[in-house]
Amino acid sequence: MIRIHKLPESVGLRRYKSEIPLNKQSYEDGNDCFIRYRKCQENEIELCYVNAEGDSAFDELRKQLLKEQQYVCAYCGSKIPFVFNENGKEQMKTEHFEPKKGDNAKPELQLTYSNLLAVCKGNDNGKGEKHCDTAKLDKPLLHIKNPASSDFRPVFAYQVVSKEKKVLVRATSTHADKEGIKKEIQAILNLNEDSLASKRYTYFKIEVENVLGEENKWSVKNVENLLKEYQAKQNMEKLPAFYGMILSYLNEWLRKFG
Ligand SMILES: [Zn+2]
Repeated sequence: MIRIHKLPESVGLRRYKSEIPLNKQSYEDGNDCFIRYRKCQENEIELCYVNAEGDSAFDELRKQLLKEQQYVCAYCGSKIPFVFNENGKEQMKTEHFEPKKGDNAKPELQLTYSNLLAVCKGNDNGKGEKHCDTAKLDKPLLHIKNPASSDFRPVFAYQVVSKEKKVLVRATSTHADKEGIKKEIQAILNLNEDSLASKRYTYFKIEVENVLGEENKWSVKNVENLLKEYQAKQNMEKLPAFYGMILSYLNEWLRKFG
C-alpha cells in the first residue's frame, strides 16, 4: 500500500450530495444512498448528471479514483488499467474504506470522497481465493490506516520466497502495531493469496532481479541506482504494478546492507 493523494471531490458526487436531502445520505430509514447514487435512481430529485465526456456521476467518480491512484489497486498494488475493458466489463470496484454496514460501520461516510478507493476485483470470478475488498467486504480495518489519510505511512514489508516463487506481504518489523497489521493482511485483505503472491514474484524477477542479478550479488551502488530510477516514476500517470513493493524492498535492503 502506498499513500494516496486525493484530488478534489468529483463534480457529480458533490452535486449529488448538494441536491439530495441530508437525512437520505445515510442508512437511516434503510436507504443505501451510495447504491442509489451509483444507479442514478433518485426519483424524488431528477438527477441524471452527465459530464462533458458523457460519463455518469458514478463513472466520473470511478475514473477519478483510478487517476489519483495512478491506476493501481489501493490495497494490493495490482494494476487496474481502465474502469472497463474493451468488452465493457468492469475492471475495478469502488471500495468504502470505512464500511457502510456491519459491525463498526460508518454509514455517514458512504458518500465521503476520502472514504472511497479504487480497488481490484480480488478474484471475484471464483477462480482462486478472494482478496482485497472482495475478501474484506464489510469488515473494518482497525490497524491498517486509510491510504488516503494524511497520516498514512507504508506499513508493509515483503519477503521473497524463491523456492515457492512467491513474494509474501508482512507487517514492517519496526512497527509498534505489527501484530494487528499482520492479522489484517491475512484475515481481512488476504494479501498472501496464491495468485497474488506469484504475480508479485513475477514482477520482482522482471523489475529487480533481471536488473540487479541474484540478491546475494547485489551492490549498494546498483541498488541505490535502481531505487532512484523507481522513485523517479512516482509522478507517472500510470504506476508500474507493485510499485510500493519494489520501493519498500530496495529501501529495506539498503537499510540492512547499505
Ligand atoms: Zn487489489
